[in-house]
Amino acid sequence: MRLYVSADMEGTAAVCSWQQCHPDNLTEYPYYRHLMSLEVRAAIEGAREAGATEVLVNDSHASMRNVLWNELPQDVRMIYGNRKPFSMMQGLTPEFGAAFFTGYHAAAGERDGTLEHTYTPTTIYNVRVNGTRCSEATLNAALAGVHGVPVVLITGDQATVNFAKMQMPWVTGVVVKQSIGKFATDSMSPEAARAAIRQGAAEAIRRAKDARPFTFESPLTLEIDFVLAEQADFVELMPGFERVDGRTVRFTHDDYPSLFRAFVAAFRLGSAANMK
Ligand SMILES: [Zn+2]
Repeated sequence: MRLYVSADMEGTAAVCSWQQCHPDNLTEYPYYRHLMSLEVRAAIEGAREAGATEVLVNDSHASMRNVLWNELPQDVRMIYGNRKPFSMMQGLTPEFGAAFFTGYHAAAGERDGTLEHTYTPTTIYNVRVNGTRCSEATLNAALAGVHGVPVVLITGDQATVNFAKMQMPWVTGVVVKQSIGKFATDSMSPEAARAAIRQGAAEAIRRAKDARPFTFESPLTLEIDFVLAEQADFVELMPGFERVDGRTVRFTHDDYPSLFRAFVAAFRLGSAANMK
């Protein structure tokens, strides 16, 4: 079975601040990217124990240049770098048998979620598809779902895993930390977290036949509440986007990949509206 891994960073064991996840921080970031990389490796090793073969990793955090190549098995491919049309889901095709979301974090506005946000914390306040509140995991899983690929593993804090399991009950969740507000966490040790992820990954692959692709039914309606009205001012200019109110826009389409690309365009354009 071919495995796709979308690897984020905020949900890594022990991570509790933006600084730990930002390359400008020369003291903390090198250590925490190392921990992130080892969690990805643990997930791959567990998956392979249960029969996964080819693996594609998509580095999905910020600059999307975080996972250390030398921490991964050498036969793994990795998509590296930013501004990908499908962002955290670039490279996912119907040939994959399952998808993992590692190091994921809670949706914007979630209580007790380490570094909770949805794609861009300064731009996106809330996202809904067909009225359903979406985390990054929700939005990304629905893209995999279009290709018939189920998400079978998610790792992160309790808020992230609980939310994902509510929407996708078949997902194996590995809770590596209990978040205390947004910037503190009661965490497993990184080594214990890796052992749990390895075990969870093996279990997730073994149970993959019972998992379902997550999809939304067409016609699809995307609603984005922006943090600031000027962000909605910009996004409303794009054909197809309709202004709902001060901070909210709506986009309707039959095809989820088109809707996902519209979302990516909207958060990029919305971010460009921020006056310094
Ligand atoms: Zn991230």
